[in-house]
Amino acid sequence: MSRFLRIAFLLPALSSPALGWGCEGHQIVALIARAHLTAEASAAVDGLLRASPIDEALNRFCRDHPSDLMADSATWADDAKNREKTGVWHYIDIPRSVAAAASTGPSGVEAWCPPIGPSVDGKNRPGCITNAIGYELAILRDKASPLADRATALRYIIHFVGDIHQPLHDVDNDDQGGNCTAIQFFGEEQPANLHAIWDYKLIQRALDRGKLSPSAYAADLDKRFADRFTGLSGAADDPVAWAWETHGFALRNTYGNLDPGIPVGEIDPKADPQAACSAERDKVRALHIVIGDRYFDNAMPVIDERLATAGFRLAKLLNEVFR
Ligand SMILES: [Zn+2]
Repeated sequence: MSRFLRIAFLLPALSSPALGWGCEGHQIVALIARAHLTAEASAAVDGLLRASPIDEALNRFCRDHPSDLMADSATWADDAKNREKTGVWHYIDIPRSVAAAASTGPSGVEAWCPPIGPSVDGKNRPGCITNAIGYELAILRDKASPLADRATALRYIIHFVGDIHQPLHDVDNDDQGGNCTAIQFFGEEQPANLHAIWDYKLIQRALDRGKLSPSAYAADLDKRFADRFTGLSGAADDPVAWAWETHGFALRNTYGNLDPGIPVGEIDPKADPQAACSAERDKVRALHIVIGDRYFDNAMPVIDERLATAGFRLAKLLNEVFR
């Protein structure tokens, strides 16, 4: 499918500040994946990314440019989401009030994930993260697709396999995946939103504490969780199952460990999103939630496990594509 079509059928992206794992998180996922690619897959990935490089005119949010092409590509989808109008592909809003998977497979999340692809009978098919992974995977696998499209598909997959393992990309508490919240993060002057805290604030704190670079952190996670990668062989590549699994962490850890807790929100689809967001932010601010050591110590093992799992699943997926 040509770039034009991919762009044309999508709804305009919602103006969401959500990034999904910050620079460090996405780079860590890519570096863990890299370490588990077969030589063949690794060369094919680099060949494709090099054959169709990132547009130099694109404003890149991450200021450091890792020498690893996969790590550099891992943040492209956030930089390009407004231009490509693919903002809704980065998440799935499974309500916090829904506790567990009714079923896996594509039909398990139909209520929160519209179909993806060109409009049918004038109806937009905007998609969400679970079907966007499959959609881009089909383009990547199709050797008849133009190289530029396959490189773009690869960049999306590297990014989305990361995003889908960030708990706040698989939940909504009437707060746009934690974006409409105001929580005190350690001694910081301004309250932060829970989404940003899970995207990068907790990770950056862990990196600072250990005086570690993203690549050193990735190597450490890879060592700690190494046995998990072999355990994946034979497992299905099922983004819907990944979303449910990560949704569970959102309920238990991301929201579950806040003190005091945020009440479970009711989502009103008719409400004006901006007004609902600022109302929710005010409500949460009034709770005076503080995130400190106790929350950090509970969150980091979850974040570490999610980053490692995302990296391993990404490697497995790419090894299958480039076999
Ligand atoms: Zn993202």
